[in-house]
Amino acid sequence: MTEAERIRQAAGTRPTRDTEVEEALYAKRQKIYPREVHGLFATLRVTAVITLLGIFYGLPWITWNGHQSVLLDLPARKFYIFGLTFWPQDFLLLAFLLIVAALSLFFFTALAGRIWCGYACPQTVWTEIFLWMERIIEGDRQKQIKLDKAPRSFRKFRIKTTKHTVWIVFSAFTGFTFVSYFTPARELAARLTELNLGPWETFWMIFYGFATYGNAGWMREQVCLYMCPYARFQSAMFDDDTLVVSYDEKRGEPRGPRRPSIDHRDQGLGDCINCTLCVQVCPTGIDIRDGLQYQCISCSACIDACNDVMDKMGYPPGLIRYTTENALQGKRTKILRPRILVYGLILLVFIGMFSYLIATRIPLQLDVIRDRNQLYREVGESIENVYTLKILNMDNRPHEYRILVNGEGIEHMDLITDRNPISVASGEVLDVPVQVRANEEYLEHRSSHIHFIISDIANPDLEVTEMARFLGPQP
Ligand code: SF4
Ligand code: SF4
Repeated sequence: MTEAERIRQAAGTRPTRDTEVEEALYAKRQKIYPREVHGLFATLRVTAVITLLGIFYGLPWITWNGHQSVLLDLPARKFYIFGLTFWPQDFLLLAFLLIVAALSLFFFTALAGRIWCGYACPQTVWTEIFLWMERIIEGDRQKQIKLDKAPRSFRKFRIKTTKHTVWIVFSAFTGFTFVSYFTPARELAARLTELNLGPWETFWMIFYGFATYGNAGWMREQVCLYMCPYARFQSAMFDDDTLVVSYDEKRGEPRGPRRPSIDHRDQGLGDCINCTLCVQVCPTGIDIRDGLQYQCISCSACIDACNDVMDKMGYPPGLIRYTTENALQGKRTKILRPRILVYGLILLVFIGMFSYLIATRIPLQLDVIRDRNQLYREVGESIENVYTLKILNMDNRPHEYRILVNGEGIEHMDLITDRNPISVASGEVLDVPVQVRANEEYLEHRSSHIHFIISDIANPDLEVTEMARFLGPQP
C-alpha cells in the first residue's frame, strides 16, 4: 500500500482523479540500467562521442599562430579562434553564428528528428562515457542490478567507491578543461600544481566538474525528461515526413514467444518475439513499441538491439528503424517539402552571410572623435579642425599604418600630426591627435564631409575609412 493510500484509508476518502494524477507526477525514479549494445548505430554514436570529446579535451592543448587554438580571453576582451582574433566589436559575427546554430537545429530536426540528442548533445556524450566507465567497474547490466540489490558489504563499498572516484576525477578534468577555454591550459595547469588558482577559476572548475558528475553520473535521462527545453518544443518541428525511430507495429504484432519449428505466421504471430531487449538498451527506459514518445532521444540503441534479434531469428532487419509516419502508413515520404526548403534556404543565406563577413573581415578599426572645445580655429588663411583618431589593431601581429584625409568637394586638405606613419602593436588601441587644415576659399559650406583613411603600409588592401565633419565659418 502506498503512503497516499494509507493516508486516504485513515481519512476514509476515496482517490479522486486529481490525487491519482498527483501520485503519478511524483512517482519515485526507477533507476535505469541500459544494456550494452553493438551495431551500426552504436558504432556511429561511439565515433561521435570520441570525436566530440577529443575536440573538447584536445583543443586547449593545440597552439595556433602563437596562441591557444581556442581561447576566450575575457579580461583582455579578445577571443582567439584558429588564428583569428575577435573583439567585442565583432559581436555581429557571434550573433550570426548563433543564428546559424539555431537554424541548423531546426533544419536537421525537421529532416531527421532528434539526431542532435542521440549523437551530439553534451548530455548524451558525457552519459555515454560515464556508462562505459560504470560497465568497466561494475560489470554488465545484470551485474549492476545484482550489485545494487546486494546488502552492504566491503566488496560493494569498494566497487562503488572506485566508480565514484573515477567519475569524480574525470569530472574534475572536465571542469579543468572547461576553464582552460578562458585561461590558457598550460598556464592553468602550472597554477593548479602550485595551488595558485584565482577564485573564479576555482569556482568554475568545481561548478562545471560538479555539473558533469551530477548530470552524467546521477541524473542522466532525467536531464532529458525534465530539464531539457528542446524535448518540449521539438514536436513543433516534426511532421509526418520527419525521420524518427519507430517500431513497425503492422509487422511486429501480435508479439510473443514462438516455437521455432513452426512458421510464426502460422502461429498467428508477428515478428516481435517480445524479448524486451529494445527496452533494456534504452537509456531513457521507454518502450518504443508504445509509439513515438517525447522521451525518445533517437539514439537508435533499440534499432541495433532489435536488428540483432531479427538476425538471430532469421527475419529481415528493420522491425525498429528510422522511418517516417507516412512510410509506416504505406504513404510516400517527401524529403523535399516546403518546411525543409524554407529552413534550408534561410540556413544557406545565413551561412553565406557569415562566411562573407569572416572572409572580408578587416582586423583594423578606426573611430574619429572631434575636439568638442572648439568648432574650428583660423590659422592664417586656413581653417583648422582638431580630431582624435582611435586606431585599434585587431590582428595578432603589429602593423604600420599610414593616415590620409580626403574632403568631399574640398580641393586640398593638410593633415598635421607628428605620428604618421604609425606603428600599432597587436591588440593595441592608440589615440592619435591630428589637425586638419583647409584653405578657407575651398570651403563651399559651413559643414563638409571629410574621410580619414588608415591603410597598412605592407598591405594596402588592409584599409578602413571613417567619415567626420569639417566645420568652418559661413562662406
Ligand atoms: S527487440 Fe525487437 S523483437 Fe525484441 S521486444 Fe523489441 S521489438 Fe520485439
Ligand atoms: S526508444 Fe530507442 S531510440 Fe528512443 S531513446 Fe530509447 S533506445 Fe534510443
